[in-house]
Amino acid sequence: MNQGSIDTIKAAAVQCGCEINTNEPLSAHTSFGIGGSAALFIEAAPEGLSQLIKTITAENIPFMALGKGSNMLFSDAPHDMVILHFGRAFSGVEITGNTVTAYAGTPLSNVCTAARDAGLTGLEFAYGIPGSIGGAVYMYAGAYGGEMAQVLKSVKAVDMQGNERIFAADELGLSYRRSVFAENGYIIISAEMVLENGDKAEITAKMNELMDRRRDKQPLEYKSAGSTYKRPVGAFAGGLIVQCGLKGYSVGDAQVSTKHAGFVINTGKASFDDVMSVIVHVQDVVKEKTGFELECEVRIVR
Ligand SMILES: Cc1cc2nc3c(=O)[nH]c(=O)nc-3n(C[C@H](O)[C@H](O)[C@H](O)COP(=O)(O)OP(=O)(O)OC[C@H]3O[C@@H](n4cnc5c(N)ncnc54)[C@H](O)[C@@H]3O)c2cc1C
Repeated sequence: MNQGSIDTIKAAAVQCGCEINTNEPLSAHTSFGIGGSAALFIEAAPEGLSQLIKTITAENIPFMALGKGSNMLFSDAPHDMVILHFGRAFSGVEITGNTVTAYAGTPLSNVCTAARDAGLTGLEFAYGIPGSIGGAVYMYAGAYGGEMAQVLKSVKAVDMQGNERIFAADELGLSYRRSVFAENGYIIISAEMVLENGDKAEITAKMNELMDRRRDKQPLEYKSAGSTYKRPVGAFAGGLIVQCGLKGYSVGDAQVSTKHAGFVINTGKASFDDVMSVIVHVQDVVKEKTGFELECEVRIVR
């Protein structure tokens, strides 16, 4: 990356009150615990975000938004790009009546507990998904029969030129693990959700029940990015993997979980190549033995 461009972006970030780190290891910001350093790592802050994005675009420097990093697999090599991290500095929940508005970096679990505390039901399914609200909108997260579409009213986002826009629910292009933001490159600022009045005790019980189911079925004691593959039409990825005898298959410290075969886990110090070797081997064997093509749900950045 051109040093002059880095300096310009750094100056714009400082002006927006953003914290900056150079050569920040992405392994510290992903649930897989894998990833080389980012040339420039900026803690996004709401104030001045549009101007900052405009500057990055003008400098023609590659960049991407990162939430909790719970659906990401970065290669171990240094990443010559700007990472705009939506974390604590971009968090906050506001509740007015039945409307819950959350900044993109807010952890989903915080949004769920805030809704519960206000006696609002509808988000229980998302409790336990270890992402941010921005990542949940982008990935169109869902679990246990619940999906973001059931609650989303609108999303505020900003384009590469720094222009803000509100997307109504029917403009979000939501389909299985996909939203319009994967195509249009807008950066999500906040999401507005509408929930129903509910009983706090019942909401808490539902959240706890779903969290227990996760602990029971998922290898939460290991680093991972959750379900590695999308659910193919007409089958379950985990079932196909078991059927092909791949449970426990490993390369280095990357392994097909023995608890939930749909998860590739990092049992220690797995490298990007270890994980990729497992992912590709599983895809090849499943295709050969069953005919099903397993598409990665995890986003891979080389
Ligand atoms: C143990 C475990 C269990 C999981 N269970 C589930 C589950 O039940 N259901 C489910 O759907 N997922 C699940 N996941 C996957 C993951 O938590 C979700 O996909 C989550 O929504 C990702 O959010 P994130 O903040 O971590 O996004 P990241 O991983 O940080 O990013 C994912 C994508 O979103 C983009 N993005 C993030 N923030 C923004 C923003 N503000 N603006 C624009 N783009 C943005 C990134 O550029 C990236 O392309 C699980 C993961 C783990 C590790």
